Amino acid sequence: MPQQYPPHQYPPQHQYPPHQHPDPYAQSYGAAAPAPGCMFCGAQPAVQATVRGHQGILYVMRFLSRSGMFCRSCGLATYREMSAKTLWQGWWSPLSVAITPLTLLINLGPRSRFRKLAPPMGGFRPPLDPGKSLTRRPEAMLFLVPMTLLALLLPVLFIIGLLADDPHDSSSTTGVEKAQTLVVGDCVHNDGDWHDQDLRTLDCGSADAQFKVTRTGHSSGEQCADGDYLADTKYSSDGMTTSCLTPLR
Ligand SMILES: [Zn+2]
Repeated sequence: MPQQYPPHQYPPQHQYPPHQHPDPYAQSYGAAAPAPGCMFCGAQPAVQATVRGHQGILYVMRFLSRSGMFCRSCGLATYREMSAKTLWQGWWSPLSVAITPLTLLINLGPRSRFRKLAPPMGGFRPPLDPGKSLTRRPEAMLFLVPMTLLALLLPVLFIIGLLADDPHDSSSTTGVEKAQTLVVGDCVHNDGDWHDQDLRTLDCGSADAQFKVTRTGHSSGEQCADGDYLADTKYSSDGMTTSCLTPLR
């Protein structure tokens, strides 16, 4: 024993600081002794935790949190109350739609810690009632309203997008996505080259008309007249046959 410590004091390697209560029963609480009790009811065991909530109404957002020591019952009660409120109050501003799922996700951490605790004992008053689980609270199920609206809105936007795109598609002259079908008698102008054709039909009297479609619907060019060009198969009704293009000039 080092001589600088008087014999009545604990040596420094003892796990409790010297000012701590010397009650030998305190050792039964383990290294965390003396653990503070639940801040609501004073019961043991309790853990330090932060439970969060979120409200969003138009451009107003409120970030709620409750920190402190929670026993199992008071912790679960707080978690369920704040999460249930978040589930129906947390969706009504643009940013909240992203913040609320995060808030609910973060709350799963304290929730699992509360659930690992033993039932509360020795509080100065009864612990809070955890109440029904989240899935059995009608107000928590109100989150289905914005979710349903969103689920309905996405297909509607998709359809609107398709409808808005459609006239653009048919007036498009690129012909890559959906080439028009050539019929005998059509006059065409090729805006591309012969390897990557970009045919558009126009009036045969037009100065831009280059070729007249003289034959359609065969698989090779042998039936075309000498000097004819072959239209790409994408311009046929079945997508597999060619058309003969006879130069107009
Ligand atoms: Zn408590």
